[in-house]
Amino acid sequence: MLKIKKELIDQIKKQAEEGYPYEICGFLIGKIDYNTDTTEAVEIYQVENQNKERANDRFQIAPKDYIKVENYADKKGLSIVGIYHTHPDHPDEPSATDLMFAQPDMSYIIMSVKNKKASNWRSWKLDKDRFIEEKVEIL
Ligand SMILES: [Zn+2]
Repeated sequence: MLKIKKELIDQIKKQAEEGYPYEICGFLIGKIDYNTDTTEAVEIYQVENQNKERANDRFQIAPKDYIKVENYADKKGLSIVGIYHTHPDHPDEPSATDLMFAQPDMSYIIMSVKNKKASNWRSWKLDKDRFIEEKVEIL
């Protein structure tokens, strides 16, 4: 389960609409409790989408941004617990490319943006070789 504050979702919505028609992306920062399989996201950190050729339907995060955000989280005693990105004019379901780059234990929030308006979103988690929808609790 993913627990996330409403204000963080609102921030993602705002970034999603500002970035339209391109995909925006960023990290979820927080803590994972492996005993209860609960992830709590307490902050988000937007990074640049490095994919310029197909920014409308692809996103890519630079290794230096991973390191930067990891260090940032580490200083606060937190970790990277997930990644969020948008699907401009596409549903909030993971693509084949999303699956290819997915890592275990991470929460993947995908937000659909339709005609510049943030729409449905869901969180996904890797289960062996496929994505399953993750339960979300808004705090
Ligand atoms: Zn995607």
